[in-house]
Amino acid sequence: MYPPERTTARITAVIFDLDDTLIDWSGQEIHGAAIGYRHLRQVYTYLAAQGQPMPEQDEFLHCFGQVLVYSWNEAKTTWAGVSLAQIMARTLQESGLDVNQINMEDLLRAYNWQPVPGVRPYPDTHATLQALRQNGYKIGLITNAMQPMWMRDLELEVYGLLDYLDARITSGDTGYMKPHPAIYQHILDLLAITPAQAVFVGDRPENDIAGANAAGLTSVLLNPPHLQYDLNGTQPDYTITNLSELLPILAELA
Ligand SMILES: [Mg+2]
Repeated sequence: MYPPERTTARITAVIFDLDDTLIDWSGQEIHGAAIGYRHLRQVYTYLAAQGQPMPEQDEFLHCFGQVLVYSWNEAKTTWAGVSLAQIMARTLQESGLDVNQINMEDLLRAYNWQPVPGVRPYPDTHATLQALRQNGYKIGLITNAMQPMWMRDLELEVYGLLDYLDARITSGDTGYMKPHPAIYQHILDLLAITPAQAVFVGDRPENDIAGANAAGLTSVLLNPPHLQYDLNGTQPDYTITNLSELLPILAELA
């Protein structure tokens, strides 16, 4: 039985960041560019099999890496969302390929995104989400990720987290990234709630918390032992070191 709507309480929804908030990256077994390269090699194989005039594989990977760094740096000046499809299209172009000859949807499937080895939910992620559900909270997710949501869904499915989420969005799909207010408004619209009804939980002060504060949500900084971010003047409403500490805060806010 689905829990009743929280019609009387002020807070009706909890919205989470994904990476290092619902899932723990402290044990990641591959790092940085290597995470994307193992998928990009599969794209290379896919394009080569189609008879596309490919550059050397290393050159192709290097080009992707450069486009990626450039695009993210550029995006940080406006908080526009960067999408994997855009990065791919630009990489193909710069590699001398005709983008119009390539089916981007098939190419993104060939990328074959998978959970990153060693990444897993925190020990209390399931229990916390379960408790929120049982208490009738809606649960949302906003991730600053270039992947379309369907790719990150593959991970959420493996981690057993997908079914808890009432709404979920990536910055790549939305066209804005945290802290831009538009991405918060988008998830609020999907959950059909106002900013005052939502708590936002994330690990990055400058993205998650600054954005949540500016958008009028109650902010909770998750500050687990393996992360050390400077607050740089950002003030979370609450700070916790593990997700289960969220429950007493919600009880207090209700
Ligand atoms: Mg994060």
